[in-house]
Amino acid sequence: MIPMVNLKAQYADIKTEIEAGLAETMENCAFILGSNVQAFEQEAAHYLGVKHAIGVASGTDALHLALLAEGIGEGDEVITTAFTFIATAEAIRYVGAKPVFVDIDEKSFNISPAAIEQAITSKTKAIMPVHLFGQPVDMESIKQLCDQYQLKIIEDCAQSFGADINGKQTGSFGNAAGFSFFPSKNLGAFGDGGLVTTQSDETAEMLRMLRNHGSRERYYHDVIGFNSRLDEIQAVILRAKLKRIDQYNQRRRKAAYLYSQLMADLPLQTPIEDSFGTHVYHQYTLLCDRRDEVMTALQAKQIACAVYYPVPLHKQKVFADDCRNVSLPVTESVSDRCLSLPICPELSEHNVHEIVSVIKSALK
Ligand SMILES: *Cc1c(COP(=O)(O)O)cnc(C)c1O
Repeated sequence: MIPMVNLKAQYADIKTEIEAGLAETMENCAFILGSNVQAFEQEAAHYLGVKHAIGVASGTDALHLALLAEGIGEGDEVITTAFTFIATAEAIRYVGAKPVFVDIDEKSFNISPAAIEQAITSKTKAIMPVHLFGQPVDMESIKQLCDQYQLKIIEDCAQSFGADINGKQTGSFGNAAGFSFFPSKNLGAFGDGGLVTTQSDETAEMLRMLRNHGSRERYYHDVIGFNSRLDEIQAVILRAKLKRIDQYNQRRRKAAYLYSQLMADLPLQTPIEDSFGTHVYHQYTLLCDRRDEVMTALQAKQIACAVYYPVPLHKQKVFADDCRNVSLPVTESVSDRCLSLPICPELSEHNVHEIVSVIKSALK
């Protein structure tokens, strides 16, 4: 059996270090916004090259609070991709704004800057690019558009921790960015967790209030906030894994290259890396017209595989009213043919060979 990710193997590797940190936290009993959260925020800010990193309860909350802190709300339009996880658009709806879905680039699967420009109206307030599957979005083009039309950028970095463009990390380009520490993400906690990054002191101060009941000082409340703090116990895990994130991402890239090399001659399209950035392969996602046959063959051998995402957001029931006339041909074609294979730092070369040989015989 080969799972999509092998969290067990990753745990075994860092068990001693984590257990010491957890034991100490339980002795100290400082469970909420304690020293590990503070230290993790500093270490993450340093790694990501941003002025502020604020721990929150999930990636979804990170995006929600980032939009709120940037003043996006009722009557505003936010342009984003329909080829993403639902949380990207949920966050836009939570603040009362309208998600406007535009098409993607066929090669990178990321939002198309040209499509964004066509969708800008007088109501557009922000663009929410998603660095999908770990591949950085073309941020230079997006920044240019945002300067020209005076729009904000909220990056969805849930799948891109450690990905960079010419050495500059995703999450350091926008007005704010949201990261997720859902266990299967490139940097995963042992439960839910998230992070917002920003270069703005003002946005950071608002975020620190929003995550903690609108309070700067205990029992004094300036705005209506939330209970959305990163847990101290999760911060212990994240500090241990942050030290190793480059090594983890390097191993993902190595596995991805081996897959692509071994499948070069098969009737499918292996992932295409944009030349300007470093892909961290949160997912290894290929396109194949005979997807069903490949999936059946893999499942028969107990090899996991998954379709991310089978129904793009503009085709979801929840957005039916908003999207009646929306047609996104590239997104639709990609979601009909995409298939994600197991990938994680612990995936062995042997596993990759095994998986490819099953795909090869399925496509004979
Ligand atoms: C995982 C994910 C989120 C949400 O993160 P949670 O921590 O699960 O709330 C948001 N956007 C994208 C693209 C994701 O993959």
